[in-house]
Amino acid sequence: MRHVAVIGSGPAGYYSAEALQKLYGDEVRIDMIDRMPVPYGLIRFGVAPDHQSIKAVSRRYEKVALSDNVRFVGNVLVGRDVSIPELVDLYDAVILATGAPDDRMLDIPGGDLPGVVGSAAFVGWYNGHPEFAGLDPPLDVAVAAVIGNGNVALDVARILAKTPAEFAGSDIVGHAFSALGGSAIRAIHLLGRRGPHQIAMTPKELGELGHLEDAVPLVDPADFPPLLDDSLLEPGQRKSVTHLRDFANLAPGKAKSIVFDFFARPVAIEGEGKVERLIVERTRLDDKGGAAGTGETYQIDCGLVVSCIGYKTPPIEGVAYEEDRGRFANSGGVIGGGLYCVGWARRGPTGTIGTNRPDGYEVADRIAADLGASGGRKVGGPGLDGLLESRGADVVTFRDWQRIEAAEAARAREGSPREKFVAIEEMLGARGRE
Ligand SMILES: Cc1cc2nc3c(=O)[nH]c(=O)nc-3n(C[C@H](O)[C@H](O)[C@H](O)COP(=O)(O)OP(=O)(O)OC[C@H]3O[C@@H](n4cnc5c(N)ncnc54)[C@H](O)[C@@H]3O)c2cc1C
Repeated sequence: MRHVAVIGSGPAGYYSAEALQKLYGDEVRIDMIDRMPVPYGLIRFGVAPDHQSIKAVSRRYEKVALSDNVRFVGNVLVGRDVSIPELVDLYDAVILATGAPDDRMLDIPGGDLPGVVGSAAFVGWYNGHPEFAGLDPPLDVAVAAVIGNGNVALDVARILAKTPAEFAGSDIVGHAFSALGGSAIRAIHLLGRRGPHQIAMTPKELGELGHLEDAVPLVDPADFPPLLDDSLLEPGQRKSVTHLRDFANLAPGKAKSIVFDFFARPVAIEGEGKVERLIVERTRLDDKGGAAGTGETYQIDCGLVVSCIGYKTPPIEGVAYEEDRGRFANSGGVIGGGLYCVGWARRGPTGTIGTNRPDGYEVADRIAADLGASGGRKVGGPGLDGLLESRGADVVTFRDWQRIEAAEAARAREGSPREKFVAIEEMLGARGRE
């Protein structure tokens, strides 16, 4: 028997468990430890609430979770309730699948003014993350600036632009639904340091902006390179750029606009005690395709700035860490000493849900190679249970989660699949109800 602890129940954690099951069948026991009383990581707290078809991937993880040799050990924070050395003592392999939940900070003057929020906080707020429920972003302002040219920036702009009716069928949490319904925002600027050819937005998600009820995407035709250059792009990117070219033919005419500010580098945020304006330097592409400053600046008068400039993995004591890349130091997912990592904790915060799948399969092979044919020698789950019990931990099981999920469904607004519990205590309290 092999005993494996997976820390984190997001996509990378579940793909690792799935791969270990396929490899070892009944000869493995897997404990999936998560700091949250609810599973699935960014599927619940990151993926946009109006993208339910993407969130449905959790049904695949549920199949893994319901197998006899996989346990969910929720509401247990590794680093507080149990340490890495303790887990290494108890399990034949320990896989860090902790994601990259911390915002990279916007390191410009005024970056800490009230009204500047990171995407982890903003996305967590509308997705019901317990730590960000009280964010209260300023929505009584006419203009918002969203910094970044990736899919997260796109999510944030779209959520700010939608009408209440457009949230039908979503699981946006009640506090965000009400606040966004009363929002005064009429213009959302999306800033990218480079041009349309350099965006990191996928075509399906970008195309959605062209079909919003009350908002129109606006692109300056002067920002594009010659049309012929589009043929040099890979097909997905070409499709995204085609959407942008279509947007460039649109005229303002709806209540809200989403303005693409290309070749725009934020250099400062100014205001008296809160955000009042963003100072932006115009850039151009340099010889290597990077953004070079031109020295010319302009300002965007705005009251909310959401920075979507990336994430990092929080370090865990005793685990080697790469500060510049914000992830655990590893070679092909191997950290060493019985420790492995997968997903965003391994690669940094890039890629879609599916990108994490090969990580899981690779790490399972690495573990098999390290353990060899003889199998494991460690005590596994019973050892963890003893430790957690002695520390008074209030562990949440997968069955508990199913009760929480059923209670969320029971209190949903009409047309919504669920109304999430936001406070940890509420989640824990819902375990007793069906
Ligand atoms: C805003 C946003 C929107 C996205 N939208 C999409 C999309 O539409 N489509 C798509 O394909 N991809 C999307 N992605 C990317 C996708 O979410 C990631 O690829 C994926 O979630 C990474 O998986 P992970 O398992 O590495 O990390 P996570 O999903 O972050 O899971 C990490 C888990 O580890 C747990 N954890 C962390 N630290 C500890 C600890 N110390 N002890 C115990 N548990 C711990 C966390 O609670 C969490 O459950 C989005 C990402 C973001 C940020």
